[in-house]
Amino acid sequence: MILCDAHCDTLYNLVTKPGEKTDLTMDRLIKGGVNLQTMAMYVGPKATQQEVDLLMDNMLLAFEELKSQGWTQAFDPSEAEEDTVKFMLSIEGCEPFQNGLHAIARFREKGVRMAAIVWNHSNDLATSHLVDATTGLTAFGLKAIKEMQRLGIAPDVSHLNEAGFWDILNKTDRPPVASHSCARALCDHTRNLTDEQLKAMFHAGGWVGVNFFPKFLSSSGHATLDTVVDHIDHMYQVGGAGQVGFGSDFDGIGTKPEGLDNPEDFPGLIQKLRDRGYRDQDVKDIAGQAFINYYKRIG
Ligand SMILES: [Zn+2]
Repeated sequence: MILCDAHCDTLYNLVTKPGEKTDLTMDRLIKGGVNLQTMAMYVGPKATQQEVDLLMDNMLLAFEELKSQGWTQAFDPSEAEEDTVKFMLSIEGCEPFQNGLHAIARFREKGVRMAAIVWNHSNDLATSHLVDATTGLTAFGLKAIKEMQRLGIAPDVSHLNEAGFWDILNKTDRPPVASHSCARALCDHTRNLTDEQLKAMFHAGGWVGVNFFPKFLSSSGHATLDTVVDHIDHMYQVGGAGQVGFGSDFDGIGTKPEGLDNPEDFPGLIQKLRDRGYRDQDVKDIAGQAFINYYKRIG
């Protein structure tokens, strides 16, 4: 079985809070059986273009440093294999692409395979979920997303507002991912996807990684392994069989579900899926195969 996690903010923490402990360590990934960890280069709070570019350069350097310590980069999810841990780069907040379409190819060369269009503030491409639901992609945003798709960088709709989401679905010809988003039917938050959005994504061939942040899992702000599985169940019910997995958000979330504190706890979540009646193939899909298959579909 291959285990993939589509989102963490560890690189950002390594660069902005050097010396502090991170949720994600090689030891914990090995103990948790993680085979492919996507590492986001998170753009951070609103900043000047120069500050964004410097932060991105520093996160790329931090990743090179990890590689010099023996961490292995994957350039495609199909490179994931059992008993090893590999790391794939993503971007959270497309501000680095504001420099022009040529910037997209530069990040693709570095191995970036996924990019969240916005974080919690809007940029030259699109409007954040926190700003409004109704402003669609900018003309540049649509161009940039088509260029990303052409180069094999999956557009990530986590944090994007609803109008931007529908623009990607309706105006481009490849399905997006939501790397770390939950079901709004179970927890009414603008960061979560409505059933209409989930159905459209699954119909188009997209993939959704369930976020482990209790605030997105439950309106009470308290979550357990069962709450995570509830969101997976719901996504299966609206057509997501074989198109759902994990987007932990480790190192990006201050609180965790009970029993899911860091990557070491993935086996407990896998066991919970089995306890809740998921059969072998479904467990394999959710653990990572669905993520790998998504990249085969868009390849
Ligand atoms: Zn995020």
